[in-house]
Amino acid sequence: QLQDTLNNLRHTKAELDFQEIQAQTDEMTGLYNRRALNTQLEKFMTRSHVSGKSLGVLMVDLDGFKLINDTYGHHIGDEVLILVADILKTSVREDDFPCRQGGDEFVLLLPDTTARNARNITERIRKAIEALPPIPSDAEHKASGSLGGTLLLEGEERATFMERADRYLYQAKESGRNLVVWEGDVL
Ligand code: GH3
Ligand code: MG
Repeated sequence: QLQDTLNNLRHTKAELDFQEIQAQTDEMTGLYNRRALNTQLEKFMTRSHVSGKSLGVLMVDLDGFKLINDTYGHHIGDEVLILVADILKTSVREDDFPCRQGGDEFVLLLPDTTARNARNITERIRKAIEALPPIPSDAEHKASGSLGGTLLLEGEERATFMERADRYLYQAKESGRNLVVWEGDVL
């Protein structure tokens, strides 16, 4: 009797853990989703304001992704999104937090980083996306991404922090795409 109850509890716990993970995951890419990003951003910001260690945020938006979808089909677009997600997963350290915010937009949170390290990661990600093989192999339009990155300022609110990264991403688009803009500098 007791054994049955214990087994039931274990089963319920496993089921709840599974649901919790699912609620935080973007199904297609396996990255964290927007909901998880929101929660984790609050945690990282509090930690950074308390410890004084910097927090970096990096925004990525694929270039001309509609054209890839329209030319080769949505399923090819999906394959590209999965490959970009794999780049994010493999480019980061254990504590970094790679997310798919939605569509062709990705966000990477970099806790306890330095400006130099964060810039290096950003540029590495841009190059890795550029270096993806064309899909299908004879495709004329290849994937690339525009990236904007910035560090959290002392005492800064979440909105201004994220808006700055967004603005730099927009600058990267405006400056020609397949570019990194970090704190206003085009890299
Ligand atoms: P830009 O360089 O200005 O970013 O141009 P863009 O064509 O990439 O424009 P935008 O970022 O606004 O468009 C994103 C497109 O991503 C629009 C939408 O059709 C497509 N998309 C959104 N979610 C998915 C998805 O899950 N799979 C696929 N294949 N496409 C998606
Ligand atoms: Mg795009």
